[in-house]
Amino acid sequence: MNIDVATRWQTVLERIRTAERQFQRPPHSVRLLAVSKTHPASAVAALAAAGQRDFGENYLQEALDKMTELAALDLEWHFIGPIQTNKTRSIAERFAWVHSVDRLKIAERLSAQRPDDLPPLNICLEVNIDREPSKHGFDENELADVAQAIATLPRLRLRGLMAIPAPATDFAIQRQPFAQLRQWAERLHIAGLDTLSMGMSDDLEAAIAEGATLVRIGTALFGLRA
Ligand SMILES: *Cc1c(COP(=O)(O)O)cnc(C)c1O
Repeated sequence: MNIDVATRWQTVLERIRTAERQFQRPPHSVRLLAVSKTHPASAVAALAAAGQRDFGENYLQEALDKMTELAALDLEWHFIGPIQTNKTRSIAERFAWVHSVDRLKIAERLSAQRPDDLPPLNICLEVNIDREPSKHGFDENELADVAQAIATLPRLRLRGLMAIPAPATDFAIQRQPFAQLRQWAERLHIAGLDTLSMGMSDDLEAAIAEGATLVRIGTALFGLRA
């Protein structure tokens, strides 16, 4: 099982490095975030033993349980799921990154609740790239004002944007929302933005072609979720 996870990890890293070369991205400019939601702490430990350090989780309690179990490992935890207002304190206290900030109020709470003895919390703003009313994320027309406001919050470090486009199989169609996200990030003109969190198991190459700096990969590393 450990060998299996290590092999998958090598395969995913190879896909990332190949896409970097193919689309003229600098070597190692794309970071791999291993999305371990629904998978046990033992699977995280196996991947950590292979050399993976960044892990992403969607459900707070599940994440806190794994962190406790794996406290001896030097891992960097990223929160990537929907955020309820009453859960911000634990997120501010326990994570290094939050990719799914989708309301100004959430950002204000995370900043206020980030402990002073920790570095600022790294933040990405989630964007509703497909403009679906049912989906999380900021709309294009509110993004600039919200980003300006969040960039001034003292205990946060605004790093960039995140999106989860609707699945598509055609490569050219996969690229469109990622290109859009990159353009919106460029238009913000905020100093220090260095992150485009985009691309998952089935579309990481398209995301890298359009400038992803971090891909969030679950299935290709851990197998199908139950
Ligand atoms: C589950 C999840 C992923 C990983 O998706 P895979 O298709 O399994 O690679 C990435 N990002 C977010 C926000 C997720 O919820």
